[in-house]
Amino acid sequence: MQPIANVFWPGRPALLEGESFSSWFARVAAANGLRPADRYRILQPGGDRNPRDLDRYSDVHLLSMMAGKTGVSVETLKQSTFHRWSGLAFERDDGLVKLDWLPPAGRERAKRCFGQQACPRCLAEDAVPFLRLDWRLSFITACPTHKCLLLDRCPACNEPFSVLRQDRYGGVFCWSCGTNISLAASDPPPVNCLPTQEDLLTTLSQGWKTLGSYGPVYSFTALRILFLIVRLIAGGRHAYALRDWVANQESRLAVPPETLPRVRDGALLTVRARSVIVTMAHYLMEDWPHRFVAAAQGVGMSSRDVRKRVDGAYPFAYADAVEWNLTEPSNGSTRDEVLAAKDVLLSRGQSATYRKLKELRGGKAGTMSEVADPAADGAAWGKGRYWKLDGVSPEVKEAARIAAHRSGENVGVWLDRLVRKELNMPSMRVS
Ligand SMILES: [Zn+2]
Ligand SMILES: [Zn+2]
Repeated sequence: MQPIANVFWPGRPALLEGESFSSWFARVAAANGLRPADRYRILQPGGDRNPRDLDRYSDVHLLSMMAGKTGVSVETLKQSTFHRWSGLAFERDDGLVKLDWLPPAGRERAKRCFGQQACPRCLAEDAVPFLRLDWRLSFITACPTHKCLLLDRCPACNEPFSVLRQDRYGGVFCWSCGTNISLAASDPPPVNCLPTQEDLLTTLSQGWKTLGSYGPVYSFTALRILFLIVRLIAGGRHAYALRDWVANQESRLAVPPETLPRVRDGALLTVRARSVIVTMAHYLMEDWPHRFVAAAQGVGMSSRDVRKRVDGAYPFAYADAVEWNLTEPSNGSTRDEVLAAKDVLLSRGQSATYRKLKELRGGKAGTMSEVADPAADGAAWGKGRYWKLDGVSPEVKEAARIAAHRSGENVGVWLDRLVRKELNMPSMRVS
């Protein structure tokens, strides 16, 4: 008799071209009449009640067992996990640190994680609907085939996608409310982010990118620099000024400011906002480091500003460019001058925002963004001006605030889209 370990399972669906391991795992489970979570518990007794992100955390043991039961080779299975991008998207993965471009998916303990994206129209056209491994890369925000934004959460209940928590197969469904994702609607991206994506995917597949005067660097280095710039545009005190600078240079990247919420961490951004910010950051990386340096100088950033937000190592091509081209913060006399300008504005009963200070002084200074009051669109959730709507009950305001927060958006943006939909108005577009 054959040892039990070598007996194939009856259901052995093939791993599809570009399919992620978790997607295939769920289909294998279903083909053998099991829920993915049950399949996982049988393979890993004593493991977590719900499997962790298998695209990242599948170890050789799990892969070998799956290979032994399905006849798919371990190496092929490995290529359907984040191993595929080892030395390409990241240098190596110790399983502990955050990976810049591969955020967690599903739930990590109590935290909802939106690292699994999907194109509903691809799913609708698939003979066998499956999740692509590329949809895990967070610089991918739109589908090149359907030219629509990917979804990163259930449109009905806002839960993150988690194919491993699904109860049934035959498609990709919200594990929580059962919505069929292939029937979900999807919007066009606010800017044309597809050429940027294509360039980044090329960088990833060839393993290197030419960075202006620094010559070719590893793809993970180029992607690390992109990530650092994304963070500068996504949040922090120069975020708005940088967005303005890019929009002024490149009108195709000008979007209404409220499209982009102020969030510290790129991974927390909505797909919509990320599509713009990644495209902006990629634009700033062209002609490295000159364009980036011009932007940083244009908004009054010092080398300290550019480097202090970095946790962990920063690549040489970044640190060196910053070191050589950006000066230290301006001295006290400028600061006093800006503070005096702020007093003038306050005595007029105006708020001393960056823009107002700039107008008053007829130019910018390094300390201005430090001294400036936040503009209204940077206000906390639900605390902005748009709440001056007489007759809207407190519970509706509170519910709207929570709903907007859950969908990862600013209340104003969320409300705007909702009202436009209700009144059949065109959605907010780039001018
Ligand atoms: Zn698609
Ligand atoms: Zn749902």
